[in-house]
Amino acid sequence: MTSSLLTVSYIGASALFILSLAGLSNQESAQRGNLYGMIGMAIAIVATAIGAGMNGFDSSNYVTLAIAMIPGALIGAVLAARVAMTSMPELVAILHSFVGAAAVLVGIANYLSPDQSLSGVEEGIHQVEIYLGVFIGAVTFSGSVIAFGKLRALISSKPVLLPARHVLNLGMLVAILWLGSLFLNAQGYAGLIPLLIMTGIAMVLGVHLVLAIGGADMPVVISMLNSYSGWAAAAAGFMLSNDLLIITGALVGSSGAILSYIMCKAMNRSFISVILGGFGAASGSAPAAAKLEGEVNQTTAADTAKILRDAKSVVIVPGYGMAVAQAQHSVSEIAKTLKGLGINVRFGIHPVAGRMPGHMNVLLAEARVPYDIVLEMDEINEDFPVTDAVLVIGANDTVNPSAMEDPNSAIAGMPVMEVWKSHKAIVLKRSMASGYAGVENPLFYKANTEMLFGDAKKNLDEILTHLR
Ligand code: NDP
Repeated sequence: MTSSLLTVSYIGASALFILSLAGLSNQESAQRGNLYGMIGMAIAIVATAIGAGMNGFDSSNYVTLAIAMIPGALIGAVLAARVAMTSMPELVAILHSFVGAAAVLVGIANYLSPDQSLSGVEEGIHQVEIYLGVFIGAVTFSGSVIAFGKLRALISSKPVLLPARHVLNLGMLVAILWLGSLFLNAQGYAGLIPLLIMTGIAMVLGVHLVLAIGGADMPVVISMLNSYSGWAAAAAGFMLSNDLLIITGALVGSSGAILSYIMCKAMNRSFISVILGGFGAASGSAPAAAKLEGEVNQTTAADTAKILRDAKSVVIVPGYGMAVAQAQHSVSEIAKTLKGLGINVRFGIHPVAGRMPGHMNVLLAEARVPYDIVLEMDEINEDFPVTDAVLVIGANDTVNPSAMEDPNSAIAGMPVMEVWKSHKAIVLKRSMASGYAGVENPLFYKANTEMLFGDAKKNLDEILTHLR
């Protein structure tokens, strides 16, 4: 492969990645977007592997490459094919950690086998690239492992707040800067020790930053780590002088940063306060959230079917419980049946419903719910007062009125789906348990709320039988 063909392949792959992102911005074109991404990545891998041959790669190197890549590709394909939709967020988190680990290893390897052609200022810049790349990679790696643990419920979702945690973070940053100056001024391989110590400190920093972020703020953490993984890849691109890796990393880094901003806006939070952590923690001096008491109305699948049949307009609000129950196909059937009865049926999606951005949209698309009846929170919220019935399916934090009514609630200020303003809200869940943020929900005690307890899929199938 000539170097101009390599350049053309890289430009082609970059263009496909940009088209892929553009496609993913809309549900109708998302499948096409995915296809562009897959073709772009295939071109990138083949061109990089063949292009490496031009840089003194001999056949024994290709054997090593195959030994690493073929089992990796197989394991990845089997895992991705098998993963349940409810475990997708954890898979994404652990994949981010791989990017971080790769950036650390590339950085250390790059330091140990330096490019002999570099000297003077260029060499200095390359050392900075290595140090920064390893730092971002280490924070991404350990932070993503903790995010994986939290999403998998291996670690509590509550924030872990050490005393003087900000001082601790600042201390770690100062140490990292000081080690950086040692690294840059070291002769020969003497910089390896400060580099490795910094890697250890950066990993502790990643663990500490993500542990301090609690419950409802996790969506921002996921998109933030997605962004970090992009910057880690871009840094690896600089270390390896690979333009395509720089472009791809920058695309992932900047789109992750934009997503973090959107998530923060959806939760009415400032990015800095999320990063500094502590949301959802019970602070000693703060007034406690209001204690909930009162009657809970229980209903049955038969009565729910009757309420739906008598309604002129119905809004369905899904949440994480719909993913757990795998109820999306039953929900889709109910929507179709109600539409057939002449009822105006729409879906309302909260931006952080589920456990990853777009979680509910993916499930509804899988169940072939038409896109034009799936609305965002801002589009549907003002329609609730004129809605006859709302079906809340496994949603909890995202329909919690305490976010608006109780200034002492841990989720105070977060915009929510205002389902209690409708004439009747029917909540499908298994118990009175709280949602991911661990906050009690006054919706369940409202006079116009009915609770339909049990597995969402089982209850929806029963409702469907009564409707038919
Ligand atoms: P929640 O996590 O608040 O609540 C889900 C509810 O589903 C639970 O209360 C549970 O109640 C119910 N449930 C679970 N299994 C079933 C089942 N089989 N059948 C019926 N109900 C079931 O969900 P929301 O979607 O409302 O909110 C998402 C939360 O997750 C927010 O706090 C958000 O910040 C956070 N988060 C979101 C991420 C994202 O990117 N979207 C990422 C990480 C966290 P019960 O046990 O009683 O059945």
